[in-house]
Amino acid sequence: MTVHCLASGSSGNSLLVVSEAGALLVDAGIGVRTLKRWCGERGVALESLCGVLVTHEHGDHSVGAVPLAVKYKVPIVATAGTLAALQRSDKRDFPTQALSPGSETALGAFGIRALLTTHDAAEPCGFRVETSSTALVYATDTGSITPDVRSACCGASLLVIEANHDIHRLRFGPYPESLKSRILARTGHLSNNAAADLVLGHSLEHGPASVWFSHLSEVNNTPGIVKAYWKRRWQEAGCAASPAAVEIAQRDSPSLVWRAGAQAVQKSLF
Ligand SMILES: [Zn+2]
Ligand SMILES: [Zn+2]
Repeated sequence: MTVHCLASGSSGNSLLVVSEAGALLVDAGIGVRTLKRWCGERGVALESLCGVLVTHEHGDHSVGAVPLAVKYKVPIVATAGTLAALQRSDKRDFPTQALSPGSETALGAFGIRALLTTHDAAEPCGFRVETSSTALVYATDTGSITPDVRSACCGASLLVIEANHDIHRLRFGPYPESLKSRILARTGHLSNNAAADLVLGHSLEHGPASVWFSHLSEVNNTPGIVKAYWKRRWQEAGCAASPAAVEIAQRDSPSLVWRAGAQAVQKSLF
C-alpha cells in the first residue's frame, strides 16, 4: 500500500491510497480538475478508482466527490447521513455505497471500516482502510477520540490523525467566542493534546506506527507547535526518542508519501 497526502486542512482534504490491486480516495475536498492532475501525476486515473470514501459533507472534504462520482461513475462510500446530505446539495445521480459506523465492507481489494467520530455534520465518520498486509486509520474532524477510532488503531501501520489546534492559542486567539466554543466542543475539532494522547497510548501499547498529524488550523496551530508538543509529551512519558515516524501533513498541496515496505524497514530499525 502507498498513501499520498494530497491536501489536509480547512481548504481541502484528500488522501490517495494505492495498492497493487487498485486505488481509492479518502475524502475529496479538492476540485476535480486538480484531483485529476494530482492523481494522474501519481499514476492513477480517476476512472480507475474503486471508490471515494467521504468522512462528512463539509466542503473541505467533499467538494470534488459528487462531480467525480457523476463524471467517472466511481461510488461514494459514506454513511447514510452523509450520502443524504450530499444528495440534498447536488441532485444528480451518482453511485453510492452506504456504511454505518462500526461496520465493514469490501471495496475492490480493500477492506473498509467506518469509525464513529463526533463532529457537527449529519453523520460523520473516520475510516480504517486495509489490504491483506497493512492498514491505515484516518480520523479527522472529530471533537473527541471515540472507542471506534481507538480500537481501529490496533494493528494499523499508518495513523492519519487530526491535530487541529493548540488549545491555548485557540482560547487566546482572534476567533469570536462562538467559534472558539464550536471548535472546542465534543462535536468540534481535535486538539494537539487529544491527538497526542491517542498516538502516545497507541505507541506505548502496540509499538511504533507512522503518524501523520493532519488538518492543522492555519490560525491556531503550526507544524512547529505540533512537533514540539509531541516531543514534550513523548519525553514526559519517559522515553528518549520518538518511537513513531511523526510527520505533519501540509495544507494546500501534495506532501507526505507513505509506503508499506518502507515502514516495515523503519519498524525493524527501532
Ligand atoms: Zn475539515
Ligand atoms: Zn468538518
